[in-house]
Amino acid sequence: MKSTVYIETMGCQMNVADSERAATNLRRAGYDLATSAEAADVVLVNTCSIRERAEQKVYKRIRQLRGLSSRKPLIGVMGCVAQLEGEAILAKAPDVDMIIGTRATDRISTLIERLRDGERAVIDLDERGPGESWDVSPVERHSPFVAFVPIIEGCNKFCSFCIVPYSRGRERSRTATEIVNEVKRLRELGFREVHLIGQNVNSYRPRSEEGLEKSTGATPFCRLLRAVAATGMARIKFTTSFPRDFHPDIVAAIEEWPNLCDWVHLPVQSGSNRILKGMRRGHLVADYFRSVDAIKNSKRRMSLTSDIIVGFPGETDADFRETMNLVERCQYDGLFIFKYSSRPGTPASRFMDDVPESLKKTRFLELEARQFELQNTIYRSYIGRAVSVLVEGQSARSEKDLTGHSTCHKVVNFQSDSTQLGEILNVRITEAKSYSLYGQQVN
Ligand code: SF4
Repeated sequence: MKSTVYIETMGCQMNVADSERAATNLRRAGYDLATSAEAADVVLVNTCSIRERAEQKVYKRIRQLRGLSSRKPLIGVMGCVAQLEGEAILAKAPDVDMIIGTRATDRISTLIERLRDGERAVIDLDERGPGESWDVSPVERHSPFVAFVPIIEGCNKFCSFCIVPYSRGRERSRTATEIVNEVKRLRELGFREVHLIGQNVNSYRPRSEEGLEKSTGATPFCRLLRAVAATGMARIKFTTSFPRDFHPDIVAAIEEWPNLCDWVHLPVQSGSNRILKGMRRGHLVADYFRSVDAIKNSKRRMSLTSDIIVGFPGETDADFRETMNLVERCQYDGLFIFKYSSRPGTPASRFMDDVPESLKKTRFLELEARQFELQNTIYRSYIGRAVSVLVEGQSARSEKDLTGHSTCHKVVNFQSDSTQLGEILNVRITEAKSYSLYGQQVN
């Protein structure tokens, strides 16, 4: 009987993409993929380390897994916690059998074989091997209609609060030929939307021009956007963009190609230059506003979302007011707000975490409340307009309704008797809720 593997994924889209890639390789090596941890001979936990709390969750989950199944599965820790902690995981969780770094996704079957051959615990934190390609089977994709296509791994930015450059290593871009071919294949298989993903997609900088020869643009990423758009894939989204590398030509490409979606996620983190400097973001508020203006002044109505951290070390009331002013000016369609928490191993963990927790909470709630009002106004402005929606499933709220995302990446629920999943259709918006739109199909 074939051995079965269950992969549990925590964290961001890059982890989802890594799990898809690992599953593809394991199936190729003769393993079956289980649908639950209880039914598996091998359980892999693909971990996130962005916050210390996320890391603690991993250890809790490993303890649960040990108690869950009488099969006594082999347990592997994949992803960022594995890469950062390495062998130290064994001291905290001696039951763990495999530690699989962020670049070892293609070598898991070899690690399992080594365990079966009698090794006690195996660790692979090495770089990707030569010739390893990002090859994901359609059956392992998280959706039959939407595919994540990594274009760049790692990060060179070293923001002072962030662990990613240590867990994911330096930036490495795939060649445009490989990316474009993958998107063409996905289109032939019936996928309707791709998300070009990476910690900073617009820092895309491949080693060679291969595959970009025919496309123009101010930066390699702008050229890649045009090359991917030319594949005819119905919808193309990309995330996340880094402010310092945001060139207005990205907006020009979106204006030229209707299949490049009208949504940009551009994390700012703070509205205070003093705090941005402490965060080592490498950009000022004025630089950010120039990018926002390019997006807002586009011929296409574009959706803009962002991330903000409140209570970073040294943040005064005046700094926080500047963040509030920035949010007022940027009119975000969506905002992920985080209270700062020190992440061991980052430069900022050596700063004094001097904003009291109660003040972080007060600032968080004030920002959240204002964003809620601004967002409501933006969502209400969609009433009466038709938006293009990719139908992805049944609405969680009502069996009668379907749900999907607009090109501007808003959740849209709507009534329909005849629609098929995977169709792209126009929905006229009749109602705006807090974080979603509601409407009716337009014939
Ligand atoms: S750009 Fe900054 S916040 Fe984003 S992954 Fe890199 S270091 Fe982290």
